[in-house]
Amino acid sequence: AALARIDAEDGVIHSFLSVSRERAMASAEKIDAAARSGNDLPPLAGVPVGIKDVLTIEGLPATAGSKILEGYLPPYTATSVRKLEEAGAVVLGKLNCDEFAMGSSNENSAYGPVKNPRALDRVPGGSSGGSAAAVAAGMSVATLGTDTGGSIRQPASFCGVVGMLPTYGRVSRYGLIAFASSLDRVGPFTNTVRDAATVLGVIAGHDPLDATSSPLPVPDYTADLDRGVNGMKIGVPAEYFAEGLDQEVRAAVEAVIDRLKTHGAEIRPISLPHTRYAVPTYYVLATAEASANLARFDGVRYGHRSAEANTLSAMYRRSREEGFGAEVKRRIMLGTYVLSAGYYDAYYKKAQQVRRLLTNDFIAAFADVDAIVTPTAPTPAFKLGEKTDDPLAMYLADIYTVTANLAGICGISIPCGQSSEGLPIGVQILGRHFDEATVFQVGHAIE
Ligand code: GLN
Repeated sequence: AALARIDAEDGVIHSFLSVSRERAMASAEKIDAAARSGNDLPPLAGVPVGIKDVLTIEGLPATAGSKILEGYLPPYTATSVRKLEEAGAVVLGKLNCDEFAMGSSNENSAYGPVKNPRALDRVPGGSSGGSAAAVAAGMSVATLGTDTGGSIRQPASFCGVVGMLPTYGRVSRYGLIAFASSLDRVGPFTNTVRDAATVLGVIAGHDPLDATSSPLPVPDYTADLDRGVNGMKIGVPAEYFAEGLDQEVRAAVEAVIDRLKTHGAEIRPISLPHTRYAVPTYYVLATAEASANLARFDGVRYGHRSAEANTLSAMYRRSREEGFGAEVKRRIMLGTYVLSAGYYDAYYKKAQQVRRLLTNDFIAAFADVDAIVTPTAPTPAFKLGEKTDDPLAMYLADIYTVTANLAGICGISIPCGQSSEGLPIGVQILGRHFDEATVFQVGHAIE
């Protein structure tokens, strides 16, 4: 049924970059046979899933939305995907995204943008736009995306689905084609909070193949989902309701806050005073890490090699010139600049110091509150093409999401209404390090 839905819908939406039909049918048939013979079935038996094309699956294309990886077939499978398959999930294929996950609208994909299934003239958000759209259009029950500065939560809010950012270290990054390693996370898109809790429970946990993955035990996230918010303290940070917030988004999020109150939560106004430094801090650190991570694409080991070059250095230069898109080049240049001798202290080191201040803002706030509620994005989905000529305007779409990545904390975006034009609006719930359970409980209480 999922494959039929892809056939019917995805010609227009363009959320899949590759569909692995035979592989999907083979694993579905295996699960079907197990079910018929009365075996106990694993938790995601037969559940169709799609995977953002920055995660590797042995033998299937992995482009990261870039021409430079066209034709690349990875020899290994990402841990998060392996765990999904071991739990019985059926992988349908690989999902469209901004090139190397750099973007907020999916318009930086080298293979063309994704359309928002809720309004075809609108972007689905990014960079995991294909992952959000595939769930929103009913082509997949769950998908995996990645979130370095908002790329799960923002597209979830634009497409009207649930998107979950786990704590840094909760889910293995092994097999994730790196953008900014200290910020990158893998997490689920689903229709409901319960589904997100189930999928996270499957993909989370320590992985010896990722040195930054946490040894902390993974709780059963579905166990206390119905606990409710009675007696919980929930913070509302003034800085997230300031200038630039769309009035309809504000009204929808304020309605959620009222409902939390009705359900017995205590609402506390809080301050996260360094918030205004978050976007510049993020774009210094993310580009610095990207410039280092993307050095490996040199025409030697992966994907595209220029046919034009006849010296080694010309091969590096031409392969990268031909293979990378404009936004990726912009970030490599910016990142190389902030890391260069003479500028390192002024930009990179300073940004690391501000990152600590932003993290301390959250640690101080979470001494008083159990969760924090904010808008996910300042506006509903914007029009395709609306911001493509203005990178700075595009970067500002991340204003409410980059803070959680910088601080390492967890969060979720949940649909909470729609604009007068019928566009989905998302509310973000942020939680303490490794306290995904509370985020799910609050989310479930308001969905
Ligand atoms: N929009 C942000 C960026 O362009 C975040 C991307 C992401 O989370 N991968 O960097």
